[in-house]
Amino acid sequence: MEDVDAQRLAPLPDSDVAIVGGGWAGMAAALELAQAGHRVQVFEAGPVLGGRARRVALTHADMAGPLDNGQHLLLGAYRHTLALMRRAGIDPERALVRLPLQLCYPDGWNLCAPRLPAPWHLLGLALRAQGPTLAERLGLARQLLPLRRASNKHQGQPHDTVSQWLDAWPAEAAGPGQGEDSLWRRLWEPLCVAAMNTPANEADAAVFRRVLADALFGQDGDSDMLIPARDLSALFPEAAAEVVRRAGGAVSTGSAVRGFAASADGWSIDTARGRHRSRALVVATAPQQAARLLAATGLAGTQAAAAMLADWRYAPIVTVHVNVGGLRLPRPFLALSTGDDLGQFVFDRAALAQIAPGCDNVWSVVISAADDAVTLAQDELARRVRDQLARQLRTCVPDAGTLRADRGHFVVAEKRATFRCVPGLPRPHNNIGVAGLALAGDYTAGPYPATIEAAMRSGSAAARLLTDAAPARGRHS
Ligand SMILES: Cc1cc2nc3c(=O)[nH]c(=O)nc-3n(C[C@H](O)[C@H](O)[C@H](O)COP(=O)(O)OP(=O)(O)OC[C@H]3O[C@@H](n4cnc5c(N)ncnc54)[C@H](O)[C@@H]3O)c2cc1C
Repeated sequence: MEDVDAQRLAPLPDSDVAIVGGGWAGMAAALELAQAGHRVQVFEAGPVLGGRARRVALTHADMAGPLDNGQHLLLGAYRHTLALMRRAGIDPERALVRLPLQLCYPDGWNLCAPRLPAPWHLLGLALRAQGPTLAERLGLARQLLPLRRASNKHQGQPHDTVSQWLDAWPAEAAGPGQGEDSLWRRLWEPLCVAAMNTPANEADAAVFRRVLADALFGQDGDSDMLIPARDLSALFPEAAAEVVRRAGGAVSTGSAVRGFAASADGWSIDTARGRHRSRALVVATAPQQAARLLAATGLAGTQAAAAMLADWRYAPIVTVHVNVGGLRLPRPFLALSTGDDLGQFVFDRAALAQIAPGCDNVWSVVISAADDAVTLAQDELARRVRDQLARQLRTCVPDAGTLRADRGHFVVAEKRATFRCVPGLPRPHNNIGVAGLALAGDYTAGPYPATIEAAMRSGSAAARLLTDAAPARGRHS
């Protein structure tokens, strides 16, 4: 009898599941849990949802439209991301600009896949390519086709880097060190850095091969490139938050979690706004933040994951948004030659429906694996990028010389944009063996490097772990 009274008098937890972090992984978990009937509370330390893929400014003195922390590019193969966007009420076909697989440079060197089913689109890409020699084009098709078959010898060694893997190819298909116009400089290096944010001489070839195989040999449209046509917070995290609120949950921004501890009925969470109690917990922060939070619990079960993450190394990404007046790129985005220059890709925000008619256009220049760029002062960085654009675009953009004049710029340097995806890096699982706790984030064990798709898959897996352990009350009796 006493026990029953004690149960009745015990205060109810404030939520079924608390989620630390309102990035894409945290909001994927929140959406899944809310739609499965759980009462969810999301704590996000920052002022907006989205984490490393977020809006940083709604308005800016020198630039039109909302600005993101970094230009993102998704792939048609990101099926899980697209499915969760739909479940949050976002139509990916309207919210993203869909382009065929392409890598086009201002000087006319280009690879662009026709819209044909795999593997014919690759054959078409090789045949239509402008710039690479015929031998290079045929060599490329010959090397890519075997990626379809997982057991093929061309799959390389388990722990090789992308450079080592490509070094083993015939020279015409990879050609490291063949100069400015080689496939190495124009295709492989930029593709690896863009996909993995890790230079080819450090990047895990097995992960790179998996990204290539999924994009190139999946279903029709998997190799398409999808570019956001609205700001990154609106693209999914804020829409997911609406679903959570409608289901009776709560999403709080500006609410940092200081720490958490196991309690009799779940977890006690110490936040900037007071103590919160939940039955289960998803830690959906970036890896370095998860390492700190997990180490601080004092629980034996969380220490192994904290130790695994403690020594990880990270790579920066710098985005330079430049006011370009009335200029337009000939395509929504172009690859840029690097050499002594910094910018790797330039995106035309007017082509991506992010600029209202009559406003100055903005180009967003991306510098991944930006260990050098991140050390420069922002004004110097913007000056060097404007100079690069003026030189490299002079043949395809009338008045490109005017880019040297500073009409305004906005630089976002994400110093720890992603973990360095090096060979053999052990990644923690969603389940670290602590009951009622799951990890979510782009860094947990999975086939992809740190990407939106990795984050979304991980968020869903974390939610599944908790719902399998504790079905929602009221829905499953
Ligand atoms: C500039 C840039 C460009 C990129 N480009 C691409 C791209 O083109 N394509 C692609 O697929 N991926 C890209 N990525 C990677 C992609 O953005 C990330 O993989 C993804 O956003 C990670 O999501 P996440 O939810 O795992 O982590 P995060 O986004 O880091 O989310 C974690 C959240 O937890 C919050 N948090 C941390 N500590 C606490 C705390 N104590 N209490 C409460 N909240 C806390 C943080 O504020 C953050 O919002 C890019 C990343 C950057 C930075």
